[in-house]
Amino acid sequence: MAKSYTAKFQQNYIELPDSFYAKINPEAMQNASLIHYNKTLCDELGIELSEQVLFDMTTGQSFPEGLEPLAQKYTGHQFGYYNPDLGDGRGVLLGQITDNQKQNWDIHLKGSGRTPFSRRGDGRAVLRSAVREYLIGEALHALGVPTTRCLSICNSPEPVQREQIETRATYIRIAKTHIRFGHFEWLAQKGNIEEQQQLADHVIESVYPELKSITDSKERYGKLLKSITRNTASMIAGWQSVGFCHGVMNTDNMSVAGETFDFGPYAFLDDCQIHYICNHSDTEGRYAYSQQPNIGLWNCQVLGQAFSHLVDSDAIEAAIDTYIETFNQQYLQKMSAKFGLIQPEPEDKHFIADTLILMDQSKLDFHYFFTLLTHFDTEQHALFESYILDSKDWQVWQERYRKRISEQSEVERQACLKQNVPLVTLRNYIAQEIIEASLAGNVKPLENWMDWLTTPTKPNETLLSSTHKHYLKPPTACQKGLALSCSS
Ligand code: AMP
Ligand code: MG
Ligand code: MG
Repeated sequence: MAKSYTAKFQQNYIELPDSFYAKINPEAMQNASLIHYNKTLCDELGIELSEQVLFDMTTGQSFPEGLEPLAQKYTGHQFGYYNPDLGDGRGVLLGQITDNQKQNWDIHLKGSGRTPFSRRGDGRAVLRSAVREYLIGEALHALGVPTTRCLSICNSPEPVQREQIETRATYIRIAKTHIRFGHFEWLAQKGNIEEQQQLADHVIESVYPELKSITDSKERYGKLLKSITRNTASMIAGWQSVGFCHGVMNTDNMSVAGETFDFGPYAFLDDCQIHYICNHSDTEGRYAYSQQPNIGLWNCQVLGQAFSHLVDSDAIEAAIDTYIETFNQQYLQKMSAKFGLIQPEPEDKHFIADTLILMDQSKLDFHYFFTLLTHFDTEQHALFESYILDSKDWQVWQERYRKRISEQSEVERQACLKQNVPLVTLRNYIAQEIIEASLAGNVKPLENWMDWLTTPTKPNETLLSSTHKHYLKPPTACQKGLALSCSS
């Protein structure tokens, strides 16, 4: 582990024009307690923050020197429609922290009260959604999917009105940047090219410094757009391969760093339901699991449009092509690995798609199926065969898989499965159990899972114990398919 040092803070967003943000005095949370402090993340970044300093920051009482809370202005497309009226409505960007690798991280305080962009909202967050965001950052990170993560979470008995009365929470989120596709959409609507260039250069400086040396501005911004679409495609290929549904892929929830961002009613699939909709406000299924790659592309097209004063149309086309190529390549590679295929071939994409359809028709668990592949054609084959259906389709499938894996060694297949098939999944019912315990003042499940989620392919000993091993199995019928709303 790298040597720790005392954290240094700054706020670089104020270098941008004043209209980009509003300075804010966060509404401190009363009678608060720190319910978790993500020591793993602090250690990874090599930053040293005392629990007291972190508590004061998270509850909005006081901030270390260098930080300056502000709400960012942005717009975006929500469910396909442009909304000019967005911005940080229940969170503030506190500033940046530099880690021991000299990398800057945005620090954002969520649930800190009203801002000029709150519209009719109260600017607050509730414990339920805070715990969900807190957990998912660690889960996705450990699965190798780029994501924002949280440093600390506090709660208080202060009531907050949602569909019912809930209690208040605040948390600190770390991200490469909080600049969204919607920031560029806002500036494109405003039509001020100089400001667009300033924002683009700011993104390059903070997220893509390797592009800084390109002196031709059209080329620099073209490469920036391409880097964003590439990272977005790669992130979404990651979502698909781990069975993750974001739930609210509005362009204001898409980070220009290609990190999973602004979680709403997200969910990991239970049954392999290809058209699963995790957000019950999404009546049309715009953000269904199967739609995510296309919506990612649609969002990149919107971003491309917003870049049209900075680059030529070929650069936009090239960035869109990059999205498609990257997604296809990454998806094939990540999904093949779940089948233990060490050298993906173009044909495998049909095998993957056919398998998912068959799994969907057979109502098999998206995760458990892959964990059982390790038994395929071994002495334990019955364990695999008893899980799939006794049908002609699955017989044909088995022949097809057998033929495909005969091109490589069993040792290679086993090693590949071991490395790429997660055994630990943050299912919705598990998140719900953790939330209910936290609401009742028991933070032990939250602590446990923050630890257990860090090694998804190698479950922790405690998780393997008889008390907990049911978490590694598919959920029961009543534990499945919990759909959540946007209200958080
Ligand atoms: P989201 O659905 O979380 O992406 O939020 C969309 C927009 O609504 C963002 O501009 C949020 O800041 C704002 N918003 C959502 N909930 C609240 C709230 N409780 N108070 C103030 N603003 C909110
Ligand atoms: Mg300024
Ligand atoms: Mg949002």
